[in-house]
Amino acid sequence: MAHVDLSKKSASELRRAIQARELRAVEVAEAALQCIAERNGQLNAFISVCRQPALEAAAAVDAKVARGEELGILEGVPVAVKDNICTAGHPTTCASRILANFVPPYDSTVVRRLRQAGMVIVGKTNMDEFAMGSSSETSYFGAVHNPWALERITGGSSGGSAAAVAAGCVPLALGSDTGGSIRQPAGMCGVVGLKPTYGRVSRFGLVAFASSLDQIGPLGHHVEDVAALLQIISGHDPHDSTAADLPVEDYTRNLGRGVERLRLGVPKEYFIEGMDADIRAATEAVIQFYVEQGCRRVELSLPHTDYAIAAYYIVASSEASSNLARYDGVRYGYRTQGAGDLYSLYARTRAEGFGSEVKRRIMLGTFALSSGYYDAYYRKAQKVRTLIRQDFERAFAQVDAIICPVSPIPAFPIGEKFDDPLQMYLCDVFTLPASMGGVPGMSIPVGRTRHGLPIGVQLLAPHFKERTLLDLAAFYQRHFPEAFDLVK
Ligand code: GLN
Repeated sequence: MAHVDLSKKSASELRRAIQARELRAVEVAEAALQCIAERNGQLNAFISVCRQPALEAAAAVDAKVARGEELGILEGVPVAVKDNICTAGHPTTCASRILANFVPPYDSTVVRRLRQAGMVIVGKTNMDEFAMGSSSETSYFGAVHNPWALERITGGSSGGSAAAVAAGCVPLALGSDTGGSIRQPAGMCGVVGLKPTYGRVSRFGLVAFASSLDQIGPLGHHVEDVAALLQIISGHDPHDSTAADLPVEDYTRNLGRGVERLRLGVPKEYFIEGMDADIRAATEAVIQFYVEQGCRRVELSLPHTDYAIAAYYIVASSEASSNLARYDGVRYGYRTQGAGDLYSLYARTRAEGFGSEVKRRIMLGTFALSSGYYDAYYRKAQKVRTLIRQDFERAFAQVDAIICPVSPIPAFPIGEKFDDPLQMYLCDVFTLPASMGGVPGMSIPVGRTRHGLPIGVQLLAPHFKERTLLDLAAFYQRHFPEAFDLVK
């Protein structure tokens, strides 16, 4: 069997080769499964592998080619799915003990769309427990390791998806982003990641963390592939009332055109003391590149940026405390043994089933929502959220996109911030505001630090202007393809 090196081919090249019968979809799926078998011992990027269903899905694609039918834009392409996105008949654990044996009876809408598009789901990726974290260390199944430096974190919470792409095991993966969980691990692993506008992609079958912020999105190593995957998963869904009933733009045609006239905002609050010097320099260089190509640089201010961390951690934890009330040991998931009464069944199931970061969020959120504190914390945080949203509205009256760093620091050593939640939360300083504002954001790889760690730059756009992000990113990739190279 011909050896297929997935790190060298884009998803669209794979699809074309399958259509042209130069490769069989089954060979491509085997290559992905082989890469996972070889690399997962080191990376811990996958919680489970879907070998048989993947080979069956691939065989169906080959049969279609044999019948002379035209393949869809990503048909036959392997994809990894974060383990908080429901897959019928296959475990969906959220990297938590409490869901370690949970097998959903239904597919999430995004997974249904992947299957309808003929994509081949090869496995479910590791993550921070319930997507709470910035490092992919809080998983019940152990930390994910960064393919660029194995002793370092991948970022989080979609660290498994980012590592799977960075290691060249899959050209595309799905992640979820509540406060940065696609963009930040994409940045730290040197791949492309896009958080769509809140409401662009259905959340039906995404295990809820903070429902007013959660959004599913694609990660990949080629911008055009990320655009194609976004195309597949976007759109209205009667199962999710927050999935916007707006037409889905064509994200793939003529990608990267017309960038030269764009006005790019540079927010002063995103260049702060204490941030990594190489990240600052790399971000400046990217801005300079766009300016040389004809874009206009506009200095601007997003004055409420400073309050985003405090407000986010109250809003997100409050919603989490409510969403996670369903894990009671009765309906599904883990149940403690030998509890004498109903109350101790609940209490012990939850004490044993959740990890410490999840418990911290539940307590924080329960406190912020409790009577007497609601106005002081939750309501105030919601007001701050409005101010942050208005910052973006004002900014986008002047500019087409915003350009800034993804994270103030590159991937840090595993364990370094594990016992210091505040330091961990501070890593989210540049990703949380866009989540609070509901605007789309994208991370693209732009270079490496002096220590060889990937650097990501973040692009932000007005609501539902994902196309602007993809155009800017594709334009960049065309000029600097080597910045998107995977680990050698
Ligand atoms: N790091 C943030 C948190 O811990 C965001 C996580 C996410 O986007 N899922 O809540």
